[in-house]
Amino acid sequence: MSGTGKASAPRWRWLSGGRQRRQEEVILMLLCALSIPSILPFGIYRLLQGSWASAMVDMALVLAMSAVIAHVWRTGRYQVASLCVTIFYSGGMLATVYLRGVGLVYWVYPTMIAAYFVLRPSVALAINSVGLVVLVAILHGQVEVLNLATIIVTIGLVNLFAYIFSYRTGIQARRLHKAAERDFLTGVGNRRALDRLLAEYAQERRPQLESSLLLLDLDHFKQINDQYGHAAGDKVLVRLAALMQRHTRSSDRIFRYGGEEFAIIATGAGLDAAAVLAEGMRGAVESATLLEGHPITISIGVAYMDKSQTPEAWLALADKMLYAAKQGGRNAVRVAEVS
Ligand code: GH3
Ligand code: MG
Ligand code: MG
Repeated sequence: MSGTGKASAPRWRWLSGGRQRRQEEVILMLLCALSIPSILPFGIYRLLQGSWASAMVDMALVLAMSAVIAHVWRTGRYQVASLCVTIFYSGGMLATVYLRGVGLVYWVYPTMIAAYFVLRPSVALAINSVGLVVLVAILHGQVEVLNLATIIVTIGLVNLFAYIFSYRTGIQARRLHKAAERDFLTGVGNRRALDRLLAEYAQERRPQLESSLLLLDLDHFKQINDQYGHAAGDKVLVRLAALMQRHTRSSDRIFRYGGEEFAIIATGAGLDAAAVLAEGMRGAVESATLLEGHPITISIGVAYMDKSQTPEAWLALADKMLYAAKQGGRNAVRVAEVS
C-alpha cells in the first residue's frame, strides 16, 4: 500500500508500451483489471436470473473499471481516477448491499482495503468512514443489533489495520527514497539526486527560474590521502561539505558528484550571481582550516543552465570550465561565457 502523488515514486517500464509508468498507475490499472473478472460473472448470473437492478450495478462497475484502465493507459493520469474508482466502487458495493441485503456485506471489506492501495491513507479513511455511515443507515432495522455491531466493529478494525499499515509503508518509502539520494559520507545529495534534479530543471519552463551549475574539485587531493591517510581525506570531504552548506542559500542544492568533486545547483542565480557565489566559496575554503597544518584549496567551473540545452551539456560545460581552472593553476574559478 502506498500513498499517491509522491514525486519520488518509482517508475515501471513494463506494461507500458515503451513509456515509463509510475507504480501508482500500474497498481490502479491492476486493481481495476482484477475487479472485472471478480464482478462480471455475478453480473451475468443476475442478468440470467432477471435481477435487473443488481445486474445493472455490476455491469456499470465493470464498464467504469474498463474506462478507467483505458484512461490511465492513454494519459498516465491516475490521481483523480484513483479517487473516482474508490468512490464509484464504494457506491456500487453499497448499492449492492441495499438491493440484495446483508449477505453481500462481505464485498465491503475488500473494497475498503483496496482504497488504501490507491489513495493516501487519510483520504481512504475519510471515504470509508462515509461508506460505513451509509452502510449502517442501509442495514439499520434490517439486521439484529448484535449483527450490526459486529459489522461495524469488524469494518472499523479492518480500516484501522489498513490505515496503520499504509501510513507506515508510506513513511518507510519516503525514508528509503531519502537514503537512496544521500551521500553516505558527507550527508549531501548524491549523483542520483543530482541527475534527478537536473532533469527536473531541464523540464521546468518558468523563465524566472534561471539557475547555474557549479562543479567544485579539491586541488591535489591525492596528496592529502597519500600524506595523511584516507581517514584524514574523508574528514576533509565532510568539513568541505559542511562549509559549502554554510556558504550557500537554502534554495541552493549541494551534491557529491564523484570522489572529491561536488556540484551546486544555484537556484535563481544567473551567471553573475553564480560567479560571486563560486568566488566566495573558493575564498572561504582557502581561508578555512579543513586539515590542520595543510592548506587546502578548490577549483570551480561555472555554467549557466540554459533551458535550450540538456543536463549533459550543462555538466560538460561546467566540467570544461573546471578543467580550465585546473589548467590555470588551481585555486581558481572559471565561468563559461553565455553563447
Ligand atoms: P587535481 O588538483 O587535479 O584535482 O588533483 P587530485 O589529486 O585532487 O585529483 P586526482 O583525480 O588525481 O585524485 C583524486 C583523489 O581523490 C584520488 C582518490 O584517492 C581521492 N578520493 C576519491 N574519493 C575519495 C573518498 O571518498 N575519500 C578519500 N579520502 N579520498 C577520495
Ligand atoms: Mg581533485
Ligand atoms: Mg577530481
